[in-house]
Amino acid sequence: MNNNKFCRLEGKVAIITGGASGIGAATAKLFVQHGAKVIIADVQDELGQSLCKTLSTNNNNIHYVHCDVTCDSDVKNVVETAVSKHGKLDIMYNNAGISGRTGRSILSSDNDSFKSVFEVNVFGYFLGAKHAAKVMVPAKRGVILFTASVASILGGETSHAYAVSKHAVVGLMKNLCVELGEHGIRVNCISPGGIPTPMLNDALKMNERETEQLLCSVAVLKGTVLEVEDIARAALYLSSDEAKFVSGVNFALDGGYSVTNRSFNSALNALFV
Ligand code: NAD
Repeated sequence: MNNNKFCRLEGKVAIITGGASGIGAATAKLFVQHGAKVIIADVQDELGQSLCKTLSTNNNNIHYVHCDVTCDSDVKNVVETAVSKHGKLDIMYNNAGISGRTGRSILSSDNDSFKSVFEVNVFGYFLGAKHAAKVMVPAKRGVILFTASVASILGGETSHAYAVSKHAVVGLMKNLCVELGEHGIRVNCISPGGIPTPMLNDALKMNERETEQLLCSVAVLKGTVLEVEDIARAALYLSSDEAKFVSGVNFALDGGYSVTNRSFNSALNALFV
């Protein structure tokens, strides 16, 4: 798709954390198609490297860098790699996340697991934003994007660690939006509904098909399913100049799931059917 008018990220340099799998991998693919130079930052080295081989159209459009987002020096290194290879950083997509194994009840929640969810989902995003801002502030431009979740809007559907971590991401996004706006930097979240990626399949202990069936059964919007490519397209828009005045938004991409609470209707139906 390069070299035509549909290249919406031509000349942009992007880092995508958690880019070896799921939402991050789909976004890396779409960003490359739209002319961006992409750096995938992940801990799944083999998967990340093989994705780069598949997506590479020339020697310089996509690279993999091992990066544990909870490690300050790893995150610093990935930002420095982007700048040394391409001279700048335009887009920092903080997307790496884990669901954790904390259990759903506060009574049985494991403390260390709670902390590890926070380390990746919150501290990892903080580090990504911090190191990106160090190069974006002097440049007076940039886009910082986070993958939050419908769990940033709704309570009671995931573990405490996951729900609180995703609420925290929205708080971080809002604070950064205010601080970095004066430097021309836009900051937004995307909050997807459920998608059968390895993270969700593992959390539910289901295969992809079972996860999809479960998600379809509870969806508000029927006749279609949410796919990783849908999130990638939202990331493309929010990262492109088409969204030049969009900042401070938590964009729910959930087919309307988070605007309702079905339990009242279910109780009524149970009474009157
Ligand atoms: P995924 O498991 O396919 O991808 C997550 C990626 O993050 C993996 O490649 C993993 O190796 C990487 N990762 C995990 N810990 C890391 C670390 N410490 N350092 C670097 N990379 C690390 O899952 P996904 O669904 O694509 O998840 C992406 C994001 O989307 C997560 O933040 C997740 O919370 C969010 N999300 C997912 C769903 C869903 O239903 N799948 C819904 C809402 C939000």
